[in-house]
Amino acid sequence: MRRRWPPLRSTRRTIADCRSGSAAGTCCSPIFAEKSRTHTSSGPAASASREGEMREGIICDLKRFAVHDGPGVRSTVFLKGCPLRCVWCHNPESIRRAPELGVRFHKCTLCGECARVCACHRIADGKHRFGRESCTACGRCVGACLFDALVLYGKRVTPEETAAAVLEDRAFYETSGGGVTVSGGEPLLQAAFCAELFRLLKRECIHTAVDTCGEVPWSAFETVLPVADLFLFDFKHPDSEAHRRLTGSGNGRIKANLLRLGRNGCPVEIRIPLIPGLNMEDETLKRSAEFLAGIGTVTAVRLLAYHSLARSKYEAVGRADTMPRAGSPGDDAMRHAAELIGGFGLRAMV
Ligand code: SF4
Ligand code: SF4
Ligand code: SF4
Repeated sequence: MRRRWPPLRSTRRTIADCRSGSAAGTCCSPIFAEKSRTHTSSGPAASASREGEMREGIICDLKRFAVHDGPGVRSTVFLKGCPLRCVWCHNPESIRRAPELGVRFHKCTLCGECARVCACHRIADGKHRFGRESCTACGRCVGACLFDALVLYGKRVTPEETAAAVLEDRAFYETSGGGVTVSGGEPLLQAAFCAELFRLLKRECIHTAVDTCGEVPWSAFETVLPVADLFLFDFKHPDSEAHRRLTGSGNGRIKANLLRLGRNGCPVEIRIPLIPGLNMEDETLKRSAEFLAGIGTVTAVRLLAYHSLARSKYEAVGRADTMPRAGSPGDDAMRHAAELIGGFGLRAMV
């Protein structure tokens, strides 16, 4: 049966439109739904061989009909694991590499069905208590919950399975000039898997894009370069110390990778998340634009408005909520930022 096209959305982008389109954090594809397995990637199993990594990827979500993750209508594959810890992260379920169970406590009715399936769940004193440290992310309890309070983040899939799932929508890619994007988390932490997926897609003449935070060794870029058509590259702050404060890591390697992509002639679309009070000052934007204008292959700079809608996901995966209390930047502030960046000869989009 032919799927319906999604309703058109506002052209204004938010952070959630890029690198985070996952609304529920579950895999839409029936193929992925069947692939839940009982293990985590900690311990010796984590040091999988390169071939092993190529055979399986850990995926958080597959979003179909994405319209903000590169040209045309796309499928976006969200991979799990990220080297950064951005305080505003709207995707906390994608930070940890290993699969994990999310418990949406705000949806829990305390019915107790999950506790019948697994001792990690306990209903006591009118509260749902979850023993996260004992959970192996097997996913068995998810089906027991009728209230959508349990979700498994992270499933192991092969490049072939992933390619088959995204190729279901090839007609939409062909008619819209779209394709397939890998995002995360940080997809290049699983570069061999991405390269193998892209190799399968290039055989079918599908456009491919990598949505990256850039904080990976250059060798990870080299792995996908022959089969990647476009890079969507986050640029969060021009100053390395501020970058470290906001993301847990300096930006030296990120800048070096960007410059190297430029020297290799790779088209790059920059993504700047705009968070009031953290990186929206005129001086900060000008310094970002100055650096980006020197890369030479930047096709556009897309500005993403911060929002805090993902706050409940922190509790679901047992992480401390670090999201700034700042509100979303207004339209005037977004337009002003676009004008500033446009002044450096860059094509800025909000
Ligand atoms: S790069 Fe930052 S915002 Fe993106 S997934 Fe990683 S921690 Fe979250
Ligand atoms: S809590 Fe759920 S996912 Fe975790 S071990 Fe128990 S059944 Fe498996
Ligand atoms: S099955 Fe769902 S609603 Fe019932 S106690 Fe467990 S998490 Fe809560």
